Amino acid sequence: MLTINDILKSVKFNLTKERRQRILDAYEFSKKAHAGQMRKSGDEQIQHSLETALNIARVGMRSKTISAGILHDVPEDTPITLLEIEEKFGKEIATLVDGVTKLGKIKLRGSQEEYFLENIRKMFLAMAADVRVVIIKLADRLHNMRTLEYLPEEKRVRIAKETMEIFVPIADRLGIGEIKGDLEDLSFKFLDPENYQYVKNLEEKQYQKIEKYVNETIEELEIELKKESVKIIETKGRAKRLHSLYSKLKQHDMDINRIYDLAAVRIIVSSIADCYEALGIVHKKYHPLVGRIKDYISLPKPNGYQSIHTTVFGPEGKILEVQIRTKKMDDEAEFGIASHWIYSKQEKEGWKKYFLKNKKNHPEKEVAWIKQLREWQGELGKDDEEFIDGLKIDFLKNRIFAFTPKGDIINLPEGATPVDFAYMIHSEIGDRTMGAKADRRIVPLSYKIKNGQVIEILTSKEKKKPSQDWLKFVRTSNAKERIRRKIKQE
Ligand code: MN
Repeated sequence: MLTINDILKSVKFNLTKERRQRILDAYEFSKKAHAGQMRKSGDEQIQHSLETALNIARVGMRSKTISAGILHDVPEDTPITLLEIEEKFGKEIATLVDGVTKLGKIKLRGSQEEYFLENIRKMFLAMAADVRVVIIKLADRLHNMRTLEYLPEEKRVRIAKETMEIFVPIADRLGIGEIKGDLEDLSFKFLDPENYQYVKNLEEKQYQKIEKYVNETIEELEIELKKESVKIIETKGRAKRLHSLYSKLKQHDMDINRIYDLAAVRIIVSSIADCYEALGIVHKKYHPLVGRIKDYISLPKPNGYQSIHTTVFGPEGKILEVQIRTKKMDDEAEFGIASHWIYSKQEKEGWKKYFLKNKKNHPEKEVAWIKQLREWQGELGKDDEEFIDGLKIDFLKNRIFAFTPKGDIINLPEGATPVDFAYMIHSEIGDRTMGAKADRRIVPLSYKIKNGQVIEILTSKEKKKPSQDWLKFVRTSNAKERIRRKIKQE
């Protein structure tokens, strides 16, 4: 059983009296609100809130995000309202909790087309607006995945699929390798239990054989690095993640002997210069495999990942991968976007500083997904300056997102109808509208579209004109204007 002390012990920042009290208050409040509620696993509901908070604390998030994590299920599952949370904990925490509640309403639908999935991911990020909301949601999902076995079979598969298709790519894009890897392996376990078990057994067996060489390599390299006075911060050995191993095996006829990074040694040093220095020392000690040196320091991966990887003939000619990086790169690889809070002094300024710094000095390093998100938000009419502020904003609060049957996202104000939707696609489609379906069911044209619904507009082949009545219920000025204009023309 987790206690609030476990959370307090895992925070990675300086816990002032005030911050400590904030977390404790959130705990007391949430515990009281959830009193008597049980999880399918037989645990009390508050355990889930604490586990979520622990996942958040572990990636380096601060007291407000942790507190919001403890409170994340309160408005949804208890009679306590968001307003009460705001009164007690302030606007910022309430907005985070509200964002998590809203994201919970997005569900993966039938379509598995990449285009469609990509739009859901975008919608997810755009709706979250504040990246801390996404981190809380990932932490929540991680604990739900860890307790998935207690749910009925068909729910298990649906949730595991959703995790694999939506949450894993998002965690990856945010660069949170730690959470991404856990979510991916847990989904794999439920989606493909046979192969999961096969790979798990295979890895255990193989890793056992090689573990002794991993430890030997660490010892030998530590001696060499010390000789050359390269300061080592940490060295560690690691086995490859299961799903990642499985993907690689499939590319190599399921032949484990062709996987060179099943075991890796990681060397963490204090500066970039030391990374290259260490690479030279590693290669002097062990012969490198030709063409297997990957320098992600000078050329980071799209999600910002930085490290040097090299494959060498280690002790007794055993093939091993050696990864070299700085402490900051290591934290970034595990905690991703969240690590920028660790490296900045003030919680509020963390993201802003990171963004400005990257924009001004290293535009090329701006991670791809941020660019994407900026473009996406740009489409909604926000410029850069506002976008920065927008990480805490609520301009999406009164907006809903609906899909076309092809997976395009149409952004509408709350209360919008199929007629608004139709005119948003094209004025021609608006004029020809005869009927509409929401999630494959016929609905009236005055129907209020709900977030995440697939809307299909039924049009007439003959020229049709809009009805005067539509003006009574349309919400967007775009639709109103076009209807009026068309009626006048007639
Ligand atoms: Mn939850």
